Amino acid sequence: MGRQGMRISLQQGIGRFFRECWSGLADLFYPSLCLVCGKCLVRGEKYLCSHCLADFPFADESYSASDQVLEVFDHVSRPQCLYALFYYNKYSPYRKLIYAVKYLSYRKLGRYLGRLLGERIKGKCQADCIVPVPLHKKRERKRGFNQAHEIACGVSEVLGIEILDGVVVRIKNNVSQAGKNAVERQQNVEDIFKLRDVQKIAGRHVLLLDDVITTGATLKSCLQVLAEAGNVTFSLGCLGKTL
Ligand SMILES: [Zn+2]
Repeated sequence: MGRQGMRISLQQGIGRFFRECWSGLADLFYPSLCLVCGKCLVRGEKYLCSHCLADFPFADESYSASDQVLEVFDHVSRPQCLYALFYYNKYSPYRKLIYAVKYLSYRKLGRYLGRLLGERIKGKCQADCIVPVPLHKKRERKRGFNQAHEIACGVSEVLGIEILDGVVVRIKNNVSQAGKNAVERQQNVEDIFKLRDVQKIAGRHVLLLDDVITTGATLKSCLQVLAEAGNVTFSLGCLGKTL
């Protein structure tokens, strides 16, 4: 390796070190301000003030199979249910929670919201395992964690069902879906997943989890790959669903 190459890898190493430190620090302390309205939190409040928690825009307990998002799925991979913790649009202050989990490295917030989702769907969701939508390994390394996995940990704690990691992998580091129309979103996520472990998935009822659902294009692509295992039933779960 030349001097230039060593310098670049050293810079990458230092960058990763600081990202991991930040991720650890953000996780170590609870924020002192409400993540939704910015007011100071008082003793006993965690992430949200009691006012924002009372006004939490919980989604309906489940969508019927005729929900618009479910229309994008073909009959082989069509999920039974779609569970969302809350609705949001671009004006909703609650969308800051998604941002905090994803970009401010509040991993424990991901688990906390995952537990809230678990409480909402307990006794209703019939899934026997959870698959968090995987990130590409490069993106996961950069972020330090997969937010869908943190949410899955919270849901798993409440429902008492196992998380299956690594049964499906993301083989393409596709660009963000933001700003794309429905057709472009579908093209952007084609062939981005690969099934790794048929045995673990065949015959199961999978709760596929992601942080948000917008058009459902990414989830559809993931479900189609999981369905290759054969005789798989699906439900979908997310923290936020756009209105
Ligand atoms: Zn608040």
